[in-house]
Amino acid sequence: MALIEVDGVRKEYGDAACRVVALHEVSLEVEAGEYAAIMGPSGSGKTTLLSILGAMNPPTSGSLRIDGIDVYDLSQERQADLRREYIGFVFQQLELVPYLSALENVMLPLAILKEGGKRERALEVLARVGIDEQKGRRLPSELSGGEQGRVAIARAIVNDPPIILADEPVGSLDTSTGRQILDQLRTLADGGHAVVMVTHNPDSTADVDRVIQILDGSVSCDDGPKFCAIPN
Ligand code: ADP
Ligand code: MG
Repeated sequence: MALIEVDGVRKEYGDAACRVVALHEVSLEVEAGEYAAIMGPSGSGKTTLLSILGAMNPPTSGSLRIDGIDVYDLSQERQADLRREYIGFVFQQLELVPYLSALENVMLPLAILKEGGKRERALEVLARVGIDEQKGRRLPSELSGGEQGRVAIARAIVNDPPIILADEPVGSLDTSTGRQILDQLRTLADGGHAVVMVTHNPDSTADVDRVIQILDGSVSCDDGPKFCAIPN
């Protein structure tokens, strides 16, 4: 059984008068330890697919199983629990809270935990992505774009979720800081996490295991990056 199983997922937005079919019958599996890129032109359905994988956007039909659990069959409450336990999400705009330090941003997902040690845990995860305690005290606006990206990754992994989802995490970064983020994602996959990243840049797929190419809401290629890096 794969960690993530998407079966016959269709997603429509809008009502009958102006319906958009964002995904048609998409099926795929992602294993623990696998690093996959979702590629495709703007509007092809990448973010929709990632948000469905992230248990935050119910499909119109079809199913998502995570660790064998039929996610969208769960109550909203249980879906929220599952998101917290299984999924770390790096949003396209990073979405760091501007009024909180890097360290406090990373501690946010730990807020519901009762036990102590949150600060130590957040510092340890920040260190893992190359942010020391001194930089951890800064506001996001006092960090470079690449450092903000690393803080967003630290926040996504601080709960140690088995699945990391990232929507264009290097979209706004220069090549070398983007490379550092991509290296972090590779390291996470090598450590046993399932990592799924949306990108529209073929250069970002250099060390992924697999490219899932989406065109007009359907998977048009699902193979190694050498075989599937169709230019947009
Ligand atoms: P991508 O991330 O590849 O650019 P999206 O998944 O964001 O693509 O969008 C796929 C299609 O679904 C597009 O036609 C988009 O306009 C439409 N779409 C996405 N989100 C919504 C929404 N919340 N309401 C209506 N249409 C949407
Ligand atoms: Mg998108």
